[in-house]
Amino acid sequence: MSDRITAIVLAAGRGRRMGSRIQKQYMQLAGQPLICHALRAFEQSPVDDIILVCGPGEEEYCRRGIVDAYGFAKVRAVIPGGAERYDSVYAGLKAASGCDYVLIHDGARPCVTDEIIRAAIDGARQYEACEVAVPVKDTIKVADADEFAVETPPRSSLWAMQTPQAFSYPLVYEAYRRFLEPDADRDGGALFSGNAAGAVTDDAMVVERFMGRRARLIRGSYENIKVTTPEDLAVAEVFLSRALGF
Ligand code: C5P
Repeated sequence: MSDRITAIVLAAGRGRRMGSRIQKQYMQLAGQPLICHALRAFEQSPVDDIILVCGPGEEEYCRRGIVDAYGFAKVRAVIPGGAERYDSVYAGLKAASGCDYVLIHDGARPCVTDEIIRAAIDGARQYEACEVAVPVKDTIKVADADEFAVETPPRSSLWAMQTPQAFSYPLVYEAYRRFLEPDADRDGGALFSGNAAGAVTDDAMVVERFMGRRARLIRGSYENIKVTTPEDLAVAEVFLSRALGF
């Protein structure tokens, strides 16, 4: 059995919460641009190829300054993303056509490991839809608009989502097509219209909503953090330095 597995690595976000002049994905982290760490993990993993989704206008820099400069041979395309994460995912899915399974990864998670990638691939083969996640350690509250706590969901049922999320390609492609290109005779995108669309931060949500398929949670690692704000960089530096042995 030789199925084809493609990884989509997302790096088209603006990274506003980092508050820096240089874009987050190109900042130096453990001696390399941040985006290189996720690319290296996928390059060394069993995936067959990689689609890198970058900011519009950054394709040439990414091809020369990242893919060629660091020798990522599995990157088969560098394509521009869109305004929202889900637009970037859909662009990546179109470019990934022809594969059997697809892994969607936030390039802002540089500490992803080979073990996690392999677990996500196994999960996609077994369940068709899975997402890497960890049980939350903190108590989580739901707050109202005035920032008063209104609800305390039981912690034992709460998981924090990470990436990669991994799917059967036809399943996730059709989910996104229904979401972003709804047929006139189908309520598709209307389900997520207006503000609700902005709340789509996760691919498994789209698959569940439009295809009725639930995603299996695959245990990730507390080190697989998303680098969002400046303190995350320092933490990621510690994890990567240890993993890379310096
Ligand atoms: O903004 P957020 O933290 O959800 O971003 C998660 C990942 O999605 C990041 O790697 C970011 O670069 C990517 N992204 C994207 N296109 C967007 C917004 C975010 O590729 N329009």
